Amino acid sequence: MTVRIAIVNSKSFGIYTNAIDRLKKLGEVIKVDVPKDIDGVELAEKLKGVHFIIASVTPFYGREFFENHRDVVMIVRHGIGYDNIDVRAAEEHGVIVARVPGWREREAVAELTIALILAALRRIVEASNSVKSGRWHERAKYVGKELPNLTVGVIGFGNIGSRVAGILINGFNAKVIVYDPYVPKAYIERLGCTYVESLDELLKQSDIITLHTILTDETKHMINREAFEKMKNGVIIVNTARGELIDTSALIEYIEKGKVAAAALDVVEGEPIDEKHPLQKYSNIIITPHIGAYTYESLIGMDEAVVEAIENYLNNKPIDGIVVMPRKRRSLMI
Ligand code: NAD
Repeated sequence: MTVRIAIVNSKSFGIYTNAIDRLKKLGEVIKVDVPKDIDGVELAEKLKGVHFIIASVTPFYGREFFENHRDVVMIVRHGIGYDNIDVRAAEEHGVIVARVPGWREREAVAELTIALILAALRRIVEASNSVKSGRWHERAKYVGKELPNLTVGVIGFGNIGSRVAGILINGFNAKVIVYDPYVPKAYIERLGCTYVESLDELLKQSDIITLHTILTDETKHMINREAFEKMKNGVIIVNTARGELIDTSALIEYIEKGKVAAAALDVVEGEPIDEKHPLQKYSNIIITPHIGAYTYESLIGMDEAVVEAIENYLNNKPIDGIVVMPRKRRSLMI
C-alpha cells in the first residue's frame, strides 16, 4: 500500500512549480473535482482511501465528512483561510489541519487590495470600457478623489489588513482607521493608524471600507443593512477577504440607492458566480475571480508550503501553518 494524496478542486496548485513531482515521490497523487456543495457523505466516498487532502476554497469539509472518512490524517489548505473546514470536527476525529502560513500570501493580497481601492476610486474599469466602446469623449465623467483627503476604514488588522494599512499610510498619506477587537490599540497606533472602539464608529467615519477579517459566525454578514445605514454617502466597499462577510442583497440595495458609490470584490458570497449573478449588472461593481494570492511569488510559496507540510508529516518533523493538532492523532493506515 502507498500513501495517497488528493488535490481537490484546486485550479492553481502545481501549475508553476514541481510540487506535483515532489508529491509523487511521496506517494500516489490524484486530482479530484467535486461540486462546491457536495454533501459530506458523498465527499467521503469520493475521497475514500486518501490520506492527505490538498484543499481549495471549496467544498466544505464538515462534520459529516469527518464522521464518514476513515483514512485522512491531514488536510492542508492551499491558501490561508480555512473557513471551509470544520476544524473542531477534524480535531475530534484526530485529523490535523494545516494551511499556508499567512506571510506567503500577504504581499499579493495587500497589493490586489490597493489595486481595487484605486480602481474603484478612479473608476478605472468603467473608464477603460468607455474607451473600448468608442466613448473617449466621456472622459469628464471620470473624476475621482485623492487618498490623502480620505479616511480608509480597515476591518481586521491581522497579516493582510496591517500590510494594507501600512501601504495606505506610507505610500498614499491616507488617514487609516482600524477596527479589530482582538488587536491591542497600542499596536495599531504604533503603525500610524487610528484605533476605533467599535465597528459603528468605523462605518460612520470611513470614505472607503476594506475588509480583512477571517470568516466566523461573528463576522458573517457583518456588512449588512444596518451597517450600510450607518455609512457615509458615497462610500466605497472593498473586499478581498471572504464574500460571506457582506450580505450581498443588502449591498445591491445600497448600490441601487446610490449610497454606495462603488464596490470592488475579489471574493463573492457563494462563489464561484456566473455572468447572470445579480451583482454583474452594475458598472460600479468590480469583481475579480478570487485572485488575491495569484502572483507567481505567492503561488510558488504556497505550493512549497503545502508540499513541505506533507513531507514534514511523513518525516515526523514540525509542520508550519498548523491550524489544528489533535491531542490524539489518527494513525496513517497504509
Ligand atoms: P489574519 O488571521 O492574520 O487576520 C484576521 C484579523 O481579523 C485578525 O487580526 C483578527 O483579530 C481580526 N478579526 C477577527 N474577528 C474580527 C471581528 N469581528 N471584527 C474585526 N476584526 C476581526 O488573516 P489574514 O491572513 O490577514 O487574512 C485576512 C482575510 O483574507 C481572511 O478572510 C482570508 O481568508 C482572506 N484571504 C483572501 C485571499 C484572496 O485570495 N482574496 C488570500 C488570502 C487570504
